[in-house]
Amino acid sequence: MPHKNLQLNLPTGDQVKETTCYMCACRCGIRVHLKDGRVRYIDGNPKHPVNRGVICAKGSSGIMQHYSPARLRKPLLRTGERGERKFKEIEWDEALDLATKWLASIRARNPDELAFFTGRDQSQALTGWWAQQFGTINYAAHGGFCSVNMAAAGMYTFGGSFWEFGEPDWEHTKYLMLWGVAEDHDSNPIKLGLGKLKARGAKIVVVNPVRSGYGAVADEWIAINPGTDGLLAGALIHELLRTDAIDFDYLVRYTNPHHLVIRDVGAADDGLIARDATGKPLCAVREGRLVDATQADIAPLIAGEYILPDGRHAVPSFQLLAERFLADEYKPENVASCCGVDAPTIRRLAAELSRTAFDEAIELPIAWTDTHDRIHEKMLGRPVSMHAMRGISAHANGFHTCRTIHVLQMLLGAIDTPGSFRYQPPYPKSTPPANKPATARKPDGTLNGNPLGYPASPEDLLVDEHGKPRRIDHAFSWSYPLAAHGMLQSVIRNAVAGDPYRIDTLFLFMANMSWNSAMDTAHTRKLLCERNANGEYKIPHIIYADAYDSETVAFADLVLPDTTYLERYDCISLLDRPISDADAAADAIRVPVTQPDRDVRPFQDVLLDLGARLKLPNLVDESGNAKYRDYADYIVRHERAPGVGLLAGWRGADGSQEGKGAPNPDQLQRYREHGCHFEARVPQSGAYYRFANRDYLQWAQTMGFVGSTEPITLQLYCETLQRFRLAAQGHGAVQPPERERARVERFFDPIPMWYETTVQTPSPPTLLGSDVPGSSSGQALSSPSNPALRSCSGRSSARESAVRNRADSPLEGEGFNLHAITQRPMFMYHSWGSQNRWLRQIAARNFLYAHPRTLAEHGIDDGDWAWIASPRGRIRVQVRAHAATAAGTVWTWNAIGKKRGAWKLGQQAPEFVDGFLLNDLIGERDARGEYSNADPVTGQAAWFDLRVRLERDPRPQEPGHRIELRESQRHGQNVGNGA
Ligand code: SF4
Repeated sequence: MPHKNLQLNLPTGDQVKETTCYMCACRCGIRVHLKDGRVRYIDGNPKHPVNRGVICAKGSSGIMQHYSPARLRKPLLRTGERGERKFKEIEWDEALDLATKWLASIRARNPDELAFFTGRDQSQALTGWWAQQFGTINYAAHGGFCSVNMAAAGMYTFGGSFWEFGEPDWEHTKYLMLWGVAEDHDSNPIKLGLGKLKARGAKIVVVNPVRSGYGAVADEWIAINPGTDGLLAGALIHELLRTDAIDFDYLVRYTNPHHLVIRDVGAADDGLIARDATGKPLCAVREGRLVDATQADIAPLIAGEYILPDGRHAVPSFQLLAERFLADEYKPENVASCCGVDAPTIRRLAAELSRTAFDEAIELPIAWTDTHDRIHEKMLGRPVSMHAMRGISAHANGFHTCRTIHVLQMLLGAIDTPGSFRYQPPYPKSTPPANKPATARKPDGTLNGNPLGYPASPEDLLVDEHGKPRRIDHAFSWSYPLAAHGMLQSVIRNAVAGDPYRIDTLFLFMANMSWNSAMDTAHTRKLLCERNANGEYKIPHIIYADAYDSETVAFADLVLPDTTYLERYDCISLLDRPISDADAAADAIRVPVTQPDRDVRPFQDVLLDLGARLKLPNLVDESGNAKYRDYADYIVRHERAPGVGLLAGWRGADGSQEGKGAPNPDQLQRYREHGCHFEARVPQSGAYYRFANRDYLQWAQTMGFVGSTEPITLQLYCETLQRFRLAAQGHGAVQPPERERARVERFFDPIPMWYETTVQTPSPPTLLGSDVPGSSSGQALSSPSNPALRSCSGRSSARESAVRNRADSPLEGEGFNLHAITQRPMFMYHSWGSQNRWLRQIAARNFLYAHPRTLAEHGIDDGDWAWIASPRGRIRVQVRAHAATAAGTVWTWNAIGKKRGAWKLGQQAPEFVDGFLLNDLIGERDARGEYSNADPVTGQAAWFDLRVRLERDPRPQEPGHRIELRESQRHGQNVGNGA
C-alpha cells in the first residue's frame, strides 16, 4: 500500500505536449512531458481514439529513441570505401547541392535512373507523389518485403484488407481466428479488442507455428506448419461445403457465386464472366433463364451448366469453387499431415465456425438501405471474425492463401456484418481499386500517375514490347504482375546486375537494406560494393536518409540525417495509412515537441527542398521558387484533387468542412487543439454491409473515399486474374514472353488454391487443385490423377520431407528438414532499432527456439550452441527449448542481432557477440536463380519459406556466435567469435 501522503501524480515536467507515437505503425496518441525543453516522460493520450490512454513498453521507451547515442548528427560524405564507415561531416548546403547535381543530371537524361525506395516510413502520400513529379517509375516502399500478399489479395477480393485497414467487430464477435498474427501494426487497438473478447468469453483461436504475442492469451493454439495455412483454410471450406454450412443469401447478394463463367476452351473469353449487351453479368434462374445477375430479389442458380445466347456453355462460379474445394485433396485426412493439424481438429474447427456463424447469429436493430433502395429493419450478423498478418503473407503462396481465407469469410457471410470482420474507412474500394501504376511520362517529365497501383489487365503492366520488365525491381512485370507495393528486396541485386538496366542513384529512406530489410544479407552488402571494369561502383551513387546510424549508413555515399519523430511534423493521412477504426474515418499529425540539438533536418522538408532545387513541376511556382515552405506547409496547402488534401479535418477556408474542402491555413492549429487527430463518424445506418450500403457509400463519396455509390461486388471468383491467364494462353494485345507463360497460367487462377512452396529446393512449386498448364479454366480442376497433388499428401512429416528434399536437392545431398521463421518481439515490433537502451534491457541478443522433441532428435540440449544451416551457409547459434513451437519449425527474434560498428553499440555488445540475423540464410533468388524468392503473383518476399537443418556442434558448451557462408555469399560477414 502506498503511504497515504505519497503523491503518485506529481508533474514530471513543466510542459506537456500532445503528438503521435512513432515507435510502431499503430500511431497511438501520446503526451510528451518536458522539463526545460527536454523530454522527461511519455504517456498515452486518454482522449486519443487509437489507444484511449494505453501506452505500451515501446511507446514509453520513445524517450530513449529520442536521446539514442546512435542518432546521426550532421550530413556525411563518404571518404573511404563503401562499407568502411569513413565519412566527413559536411554542411547541409553542400549535401543538398551534391544530391541536386546527381539527381538533376538523371532527370535530364532518364528519370528512371533514380531508384527511390523507402522503408517503414509513414509518409508515402508524399514520397510517392514526389517520385511522380521526378518522373521515375522506380519508386516503392517496403510493402513488398512486408505483407503485400495480404494487401493485394484483399484489394482484389473484397476491396479492403486485414493489415491495419480493417478489424474484427470487437463489440460483437464471438469467435476470432488469428492467422499468422503474433504482433501487428494495429497493436494497441488489437490489445484493447482482445481484452473485450476475453471479458465477454469469446473464443480466440490462433493459427501459428509459434505461440507468442497475442497467442499467449488465446483459448486455442493451432500449431500449423509454416506455409500451409491456405491448405487448412481450404480444408475448412471443404467441411463447410460438405455440411452445407454456407450463407447463400449473403453470397448471391454481395458476391459473385451465381455469375456465369464462360466455358469455351481456347476462346479469348474462356473463363471470363458472361455478360449481356450492356455489360451486366449474367446468371441463371429457374428453367435456365438467363438474367442480369446484379438485380435485386432474384433466386439465381449456383450449380449446373447453362447455354448462353450464343450457344456456348457456362457454369456459375460457385460450381468451380465447389469442385475445387470438395475434391479429396482438401479432405481433412488428406491435409492433416501436411498442415500438422489432425483431421478431427480441422472438423471441429469447421463445426465451431459453422455453429457460431449460423446457430449463434446476431441481429442488430439498425435500419439501413441497400444500393437497390431496399429498406432493411435490422442487420443480420455472423459473429465469426478473422484477422491475418505476416505469417500467412511472407510465403510464396501467400496471395492465394489470403484469398482462400477471404473466401472462407465470404462463405460464412462474415465480411462486414455484425460480429465479423469490419472495414475501416476509406475502405471498401472497388475490386480492384481504380488506381493503376503509372506507365508513361508527360511532356513535363512527370509520371501520368503514382508509380504504384493495382493492374486490372495485362495492358496495365510495366513491360516493354518484348514483355521484359520496365522497373528495376521487376514489379508489375510478367514475373510479378500484381506487385502493388513494389519489390524493395530486389532493387540492389537488379541494379548491380543491370537487370533490366543500370541506374545512377539509389536513394533510400529508412530502409535498412544491408541488414534486416534484405535477404541474403552478406551478399547484399557485397553487391553494394561491387565495381565494374573501370573500378567504379556498379551503383554509382547511394543516398541514404535516416535518423540513426544503422548498418546501411556504412554503404552510403551521402547521408542525410533525419530528425526523431518528436522533432518534426508528420501526416498520417487518409490518402496513405490512416488511423481509422470501423466506426470513424480518422487521421492525425505529429508535431515537433522539441527542437533538434544536432544539425539534422526532417526528411520530408529535405525532400521538398530537393524537389524545389530540381525545379520539379508542382514543387515550384511560376517564378521557379519553392512552392512549399516546408512539410507543414505542404500538409496544409497541397491538394491532390480539388478540395482533397492530406488531412480531412477542418477543411474549407473557415475550417467548417470535413473530408473535402479548400485548404485552411489554421488547419494544423485545429489539429493541435484536438490532440493532433481528427475523426469523422460513419453514420450509424452505414455501420455494416458497406459494399452495398447506400448510406455508407453516399457518406464515403462525400468524404472523397469512393467515386460513385455503385455497389462493390466481392470477388469469390476473381475475373481479373483470369484476364492475365488468358494472356498467357495467347490472347489479347499484351501477352507474356514464352518463358513466363506457364507460370502466369498456373498462378493466375481465378479460384484460390494452395501449392507447396519449395523455393529452397529445385522443384517447381507443386500445385494443389490448380489447372495444369495448357488447360483452361474449368478444365482438369483438382484432378486426383495429377501427380503434383499426391506430393503434398506425401509430406507426412518433417522427417519424410527431409528425405524428399534430399532426393531432389542439388545441394550436395543436404536435407533441410525444418522450417525456419523469424518475428519481431512484441517489445520491439516496428520500433526501428534495438539500440533503444530501455528495450535492450528486455533482450539484447536472440536465441534459436525449437520444440524440446526437435532438439532431442538432434541430440541437442537446451542452452547448447549448434549450427543452423541452409543452402547458403550456416550460423552457430545458442538454442533454447520452447514447447510453444510446432515440431518441425525453428524460429528466432528478428533484427536483434546487429552488425559490429553500427548503432553506436560497444564492441562487445551482445547484439554482435551472441545475436545473429537469420536473413543471412535466406536466398534472394529461388533455387534455380530464375526468379526472386517471392510470391509469383505479387512479388512478396517469401522469407518465411526458409528450410534449414540443425547440426549438433561437437563443442556445444563453447560460447560464441559464428557465421560461415558459401563463397558466393561471403562478404562482410562475422567470422569467428562475433568478430
Ligand atoms: S509503440 Fe505502437 S502500440 Fe506502443 S504506444 Fe507507440 S504506437 Fe502505440
